[in-house]
Amino acid sequence: MLSLRFLIVSLCLSGVLFTIWNGSYSTYQVQKNLLIDASLEANRVYAKKLAHMTEIFLENAKSQLIISADIIAPFIESNEPDSTELQRELDQIRIMSQGFNSVSILDKNGVVLSISPKKIGLQGRRLGAPILQQLEGNKVQFIGPIIGPTGTALVALSHPILNKAGEHLGNVLGTIYLHENRLLARLLSEHSYMDGSYVYVVSPKKDLIYHPVAERIGEKVTNNTVINRVIEGESGALEVINSKGVAMVSGYSYIKEAGWGVVAQSPRASVLKELDRQLWLVIKQAIPGQIVILVLILLLSYFIAQPLRQLARSTTSRDRGIQIKAWFYEAYLLKKAVRQEIDFLNDKVSRFDEDRKKDALTGLMNRRGMDELVTGLIDQITPFSVIFFDIDFFKKINDAFGHGVGDEVLQALTRIVEKQVKNEGVLIRSGGEEFIVILPNKKPLFAMDLAEKIRMSVEQEVIPQIGNCITISVGVSNWEHTMTQSEVFQRADLAMYESKHSGRNRVTGRFH
Ligand code: GH3
Ligand code: MG
Ligand code: MG
Repeated sequence: MLSLRFLIVSLCLSGVLFTIWNGSYSTYQVQKNLLIDASLEANRVYAKKLAHMTEIFLENAKSQLIISADIIAPFIESNEPDSTELQRELDQIRIMSQGFNSVSILDKNGVVLSISPKKIGLQGRRLGAPILQQLEGNKVQFIGPIIGPTGTALVALSHPILNKAGEHLGNVLGTIYLHENRLLARLLSEHSYMDGSYVYVVSPKKDLIYHPVAERIGEKVTNNTVINRVIEGESGALEVINSKGVAMVSGYSYIKEAGWGVVAQSPRASVLKELDRQLWLVIKQAIPGQIVILVLILLLSYFIAQPLRQLARSTTSRDRGIQIKAWFYEAYLLKKAVRQEIDFLNDKVSRFDEDRKKDALTGLMNRRGMDELVTGLIDQITPFSVIFFDIDFFKKINDAFGHGVGDEVLQALTRIVEKQVKNEGVLIRSGGEEFIVILPNKKPLFAMDLAEKIRMSVEQEVIPQIGNCITISVGVSNWEHTMTQSEVFQRADLAMYESKHSGRNRVTGRFH
């Protein structure tokens, strides 16, 4: 069975735990959203900044290429593509651009006429139709990512070289190794923090142009929402699952100049890691307070349950003496009610107990009461005398006046005898019209004397209901410590019958 204390403790504990959980959970949620929003915004701004920087860089590279094409055109026209002067020119373009890793001149068929730095050694080699096929019109083209001759992924910018008449002589090609480029690589790799944040760049064809994991450059990523959006020319921020299945907080920005997309992203888990640590810290700091609350709950539950527990116990013991500190209203009411109920029950029981020992007609003690009385006397070895008496010819009174009058005669007789017995002994109606007087600590002589007084007072007093007197036959005996109760009673009974048989209305004694 569940105890009240257990219920109170459970209720309070679940309340406290729920409040803590609820508070922590809502705080956690709010903080989480704030952190993620802040991280989204930071990545968005960062991607935008990178895109802007890259754009400036590319614009610069582009103008370099346009200028170079004009400078180079006369060299090609004069058929001096491998002159040292052209080489110097190319070296100068490359160095001044601060962006190209290599600058080369291709003829109409894609054959490298000249390249800076010269040590790359591609001179005379054909770079292949695929690159040239991608070039169209008289404008700067972005090509890439392509795998360069040294096996490194690179992007290239190309511009056609035209003579004054507008004829196509070839192309000037600037390559950029994003990983090695002094300006861009520094910008892009800067974001590679310890927390797993990184930046990548995609081409319009969704190929990775730049990625901190160099092996992934050139890889096509088609199922990434951020890439899809950024290539469409959108800029913004989004939570995504990356191609490796990791939840990411991404900011993305479009580089209009090249049609590329820059994505700056951080793993969601690392954004939230600090929050988890903070939450755990808050919980740890709250533990002492929780323990205090727990102890208070236990104490309080004890004090609340205590009066009720005491009350519950007192009802089973029916003990009037139990001290209950009913310190709160309901317990006080209960205590009052229980007390009243117990008192009422106790009264009832004791009255019932008394009634049990009482004769209803005369109000005298009955045989059951007498047995208890005599047993008590014998147990305590208290000597006593007994007087037995029986109404003479009572049947005739009943017959003559009716049973009702008979009863009234029994009541009248009781009053007559009580006057004689007073406090010397106890008068008992032992059954029908037979009575017994128990006289504790009274000697046979006193008993004989009292028996005679009783007999005489009965004989002399007229009972109004019958307009006459009645008589009784009396037997007297006494108890001494060697005897049993029945021995004494038999003796007194015998003495009484002797009185009957020897003419009634007399006293006979039979003693030990
Ligand atoms: P004896 O002198 O031999 O005692 O004669 P008796 O008529 O008194 O004796 P018996 O035992 O023959 O009759 C007793 C009568 O007492 C019988 C019964 O009707 C009557 N009696 C017993 N108890 C009551 C009672 O409570 N009320 C009334 N009215 N009569 C009672
Ligand atoms: Mg009788
Ligand atoms: Mg009789």
